[in-house]
Amino acid sequence: MKITPIGIWGGYPKANSATSSFLIEHEGFHCLMDCGSGVLSSLQNYLPLEKLDAVVISHYHADHIADIGSLQFSRIINFYLGKPAPALPIYGHDQDQENFDKLSYKEQTVGVAISEDDVVQIGPFEVSFCQTIHPVHCLAMRFSVGDQSMVLTADTEWRDELVDFSRGTDLLISEANLYEEHVGKAPGHMGGSEAGKLARLAGAKRLVLTHLPLHGDIEEIHGAARQNYDGPTEIAEVGKAYEIL
Ligand code: ZN
Repeated sequence: MKITPIGIWGGYPKANSATSSFLIEHEGFHCLMDCGSGVLSSLQNYLPLEKLDAVVISHYHADHIADIGSLQFSRIINFYLGKPAPALPIYGHDQDQENFDKLSYKEQTVGVAISEDDVVQIGPFEVSFCQTIHPVHCLAMRFSVGDQSMVLTADTEWRDELVDFSRGTDLLISEANLYEEHVGKAPGHMGGSEAGKLARLAGAKRLVLTHLPLHGDIEEIHGAARQNYDGPTEIAEVGKAYEIL
């Protein structure tokens, strides 16, 4: 499987960039993880929009869903241009019914409910979920094909259950939204040190940091992660292909 960062920022995007989102591909199947601000623009550098096969949403904060509406408009415009496509499935939890209902639009996209207990088949991927600690209901996600896997923590404070959920994964993409002086003080997010600790305790083979703050020097967050984890660690790089072979 191949994972491509589409955006790396938390909250809102820097100029000409996007909030945290990743494209995962295997055997010609393309799935987007989260679809926040700037994602639809960035994604087109790597994939024609009509080739998208599925979307999985971790939670309904704007920096994870802001571009769902634009994605739906892209489908309806193609429909009016005489290029209809099958309805695009958008997976998201239904603990927030109003936002879940917005995933479905004019038979162009259809919301599919997921929960922590589900294991769903999305194209070639077996996908499982783990509830996180965040001000709104949020699901971490694990994509597996055979014995290969990747985990995206989505947005979360430290939660012990994420260790087992991330156990042995080839690629842990962890949020690291906080500088160390804010760890434990800002609700719903982790610092680099906690991302590193998660990678170490889970035995992850590689750590990639995302959902980064726009202020300060994010290399400090990278350094904090490396203090707790000896494996390969890096800040997510938009457009870089992370291949799991
Ligand atoms: Zn959030």
